[in-house]
Amino acid sequence: MQSQDQITRQNFDDWMVPVFSPAAFIPVRGEGSRVWDQQGKEYIDFAGGIAVNSLGHAHPVVVDALTEQAKKLWHVSNIYTNEPVLRLAKNLVDNTFADKVFFCNSGAEANEAALKLARKVGLKIGGEHKNQIVSFKNSFHGRTLFTVTAGGQPKYSQDFAPLPKGIEHIEYNDLAAAKSAITENTCAVIVEPIQGEGGVVPASLEFLQGLREYCTEKGAVLIFDEVQTGVGRTGSLYAYMNTGVTPDILTSAKALGGGFPIGAMLTTDHFANMYSVGDHGTTYGGNPLASAVANAVFEFVNTDTVLQDVKNRHKQFVRGLEEINKSTSIFEEIRGQGLLLGAVLKSEFTGQAGRLMNIASEFGLLVLVAGPNVIRFAPALVISEEEVEEGLIRFAKAVQQFLNAS
Ligand SMILES: *Cc1c(COP(=O)(O)O)cnc(C)c1O
Repeated sequence: MQSQDQITRQNFDDWMVPVFSPAAFIPVRGEGSRVWDQQGKEYIDFAGGIAVNSLGHAHPVVVDALTEQAKKLWHVSNIYTNEPVLRLAKNLVDNTFADKVFFCNSGAEANEAALKLARKVGLKIGGEHKNQIVSFKNSFHGRTLFTVTAGGQPKYSQDFAPLPKGIEHIEYNDLAAAKSAITENTCAVIVEPIQGEGGVVPASLEFLQGLREYCTEKGAVLIFDEVQTGVGRTGSLYAYMNTGVTPDILTSAKALGGGFPIGAMLTTDHFANMYSVGDHGTTYGGNPLASAVANAVFEFVNTDTVLQDVKNRHKQFVRGLEEINKSTSIFEEIRGQGLLLGAVLKSEFTGQAGRLMNIASEFGLLVLVAGPNVIRFAPALVISEEEVEEGLIRFAKAVQQFLNAS
């Protein structure tokens, strides 16, 4: 066995299937919103493991939940239920529109469960023809064949044909297009309240309200994909709570486990009861270890203090980014909600978000991109004022370097 300091970035290219192109450094330790690499270099973490590490790194609440449960029971399969999963389900049901929850291990799986349920609902209430799914251009719903086809970015699906049929993609935020696309044959509309991977693009309120209206009118299930926006990310527990629009199905993952893999599909009794025993399943979904961690995360995040802090940090981010923009004019727009923010590069920097991300890491800052033109920030929900301050100072230096090298 090699010791850790013999592992290098080169080993990734040697041993890993090349579907990722990870950074040149390897993180080995994290605490709060700081991460250290193999060489001991420190980074401020504005990436949050892609909107996942809701309590940052090594938070005692999560560490305790994990280690306590690890001593008791890790996994029993769904042949038996378990206490942590039922506690987590109760928490989700008590705090959202939902009456019932299905647990799985990722966002894609949560959407897979939702889309399959919608097809089943369509079959039951409308017959064989009611199977059409309406989705949106530039959306992202995961990487299984069904969810990658539901997603509105053909580059992720086109090489894997034949794709599942009956999915149509229309323009996001285009109510007229939605009105004509949603028909008696539609079984589901799947939408992100804020398109995350697609560039941190918020849906307008009228758009979501219109989708709700058309779905109700045509008997289609409205699915909110809150895999990225859920569990406090926007400063509300779920983003739908800001909109006055209630979906029929909601999917949650990413921040829900704070770094431990878990996904959930939430729905009402009415729709939940259209699935029966054996219709869908999973070996790991809702296992005690994942559920205990998620429950600790959920209870910690779902407080006025934490949600208010998310809103306060949002303001600090916007102020800081606008300050940087005043002297550099590099951004077209700063957008997003809570701690899901996008800084859109001006057109003269088209396609260069990745280059800026790499320069940021040289200055000790982890950020994300959302497409080729948007820098995305999705840090821990509990990131401190001081950490945001320090990260923005590093980001300002990175922007300067980016411009100098342009
Ligand atoms: C990340 C993401 C997914 C996929 O989640 P995985 O856990 O990677 O399968 C689905 N939908 C949205 C909106 C996401 O941001």
